[in-house]
Amino acid sequence: MTHFLTAWAVALSLLAAEPPATWLIRGAQLVDGTGGPIRAGDVRIEGDRIVEVGRLSRKPGEVVVDGKGLALAPGFIDVHNHSERGIVRDPSAETQVSQGITTLVLGPDGESAWPIAEYLDARRASPPAVNVMTMVGHATVRELVMGKDYKRKATADEIAKMAALVEQGMREGAAGLSSGLEYDVGSYSATEEVVALAKAAGKFGGFYMTHTRDEAEKTFEAFDEAVTIAKTAGVPLEISHIKLATVGVWGQTQRTIDLFDAARKQGLDATADCYPYEAWHSNLEVIVPDKRYDDPKSVTEAIRVLGGASRITVTACEAHPEYAGKTLEQIANSEGISPVALYSRMVREGGADIIGHSMKEEDVLALYKQPWVMVASDGGIDNDHPRGAGTFPRVLGRFVREKHLFTLPEAIRKMTSLPASRMKLPDRGRIAPGRKADLVLFDPKTVIDRSTFAEPRKLSVGISRVYVNGELVWSDGAVTGARPGRVLQSGGSARP
Ligand SMILES: [Zn+2]
Repeated sequence: MTHFLTAWAVALSLLAAEPPATWLIRGAQLVDGTGGPIRAGDVRIEGDRIVEVGRLSRKPGEVVVDGKGLALAPGFIDVHNHSERGIVRDPSAETQVSQGITTLVLGPDGESAWPIAEYLDARRASPPAVNVMTMVGHATVRELVMGKDYKRKATADEIAKMAALVEQGMREGAAGLSSGLEYDVGSYSATEEVVALAKAAGKFGGFYMTHTRDEAEKTFEAFDEAVTIAKTAGVPLEISHIKLATVGVWGQTQRTIDLFDAARKQGLDATADCYPYEAWHSNLEVIVPDKRYDDPKSVTEAIRVLGGASRITVTACEAHPEYAGKTLEQIANSEGISPVALYSRMVREGGADIIGHSMKEEDVLALYKQPWVMVASDGGIDNDHPRGAGTFPRVLGRFVREKHLFTLPEAIRKMTSLPASRMKLPDRGRIAPGRKADLVLFDPKTVIDRSTFAEPRKLSVGISRVYVNGELVWSDGAVTGARPGRVLQSGGSARP
């Protein structure tokens, strides 16, 4: 009788020629983003939303995706992503979706697209596979106001103009202010300037995200400044790619944890993000904080605090493409000069991109364990650091499965609900009825990164299927070509 009724219902639905509006992922282990225990369950999806979660039976005509043996998590939200241009060239975002990333937050480190409305409208007109959001960049507005005359403190009038631009960026859809105070344009700003701009972002509910003023020997002064800026401006704080990256601060994880725990206890909504590597990726100039690139004393000290010239690898150099892949020590040896002289000459000739292998693994792990530290890549499409293609699977494979640094639910929380709450995305970051169907189906037993410093864009394995707004964008090792990504704004879903 039951069979007969089912057959009859199927026949009716076929007659009506209306495919069922819903579909199911069945039998997966749900890691729902909250950090709570894993449970077996099924998820029903309609359009771009999750409509039911639990033990569900198939409705007539429903398509079923078999999740047996796999884990199902919310899509990963990358709060520090440098794909502003990459997403235009590769809207399928292969290196990103293959990691399970479903939302990119662009415009970090003080540099964003401008005008923001124009950039976001272009993404709406030609959507990528993933959702995108953006910050408004401090250096971006600083240069708009000061032009090439930025190597000084800004006047009150200039700060007012920058604040107006930050407000414009926020109105046009930015989620907050980003700064890169260690980089050239931002480095000349006074603390008060950044406070004024963070306040401007705060008027629209924005937060302050910062690559702090110093990631070397003055790391703690820079952390203090970041806390001061956020507190004074009255906005939440996100420390970008938190690290202890020079000899003088190695091992000072407890001091770091205490500093942010104290700020949090005093009511500051402070979080941080961290990429799972002991090497950073930046430019040659950034390592000499006093900018005396020709002063042997300054350069010698800069190389010393990073642990020596053998820890600095050139990834790209316009004047000398043949330097790519070699350390400063190797290049200096083959040219018969000192690393210090080489450094000064390279800056004069236009600089280079470098990777610095100057973090301690135990420091990275200790910071990663903190509940307020989320996973973010600082990478993106076309990145020359393996974090661009490997960050999220690396945490799942190496930190969770191999090192047992934290549980799988905790790792997923750091990739989903924690960044969703930082970005004020109430309808993402969790598997629950009513949430958007950004979903990752993966194998916790095999998921792992394969990108290396030699092959930074090699794709990860173990991510089986990735859905963005209910549509499949990655399936069994290949992008599908679907482009369901939307422009997201803090506080709600996509702007119409
Ligand atoms: Zn940065």
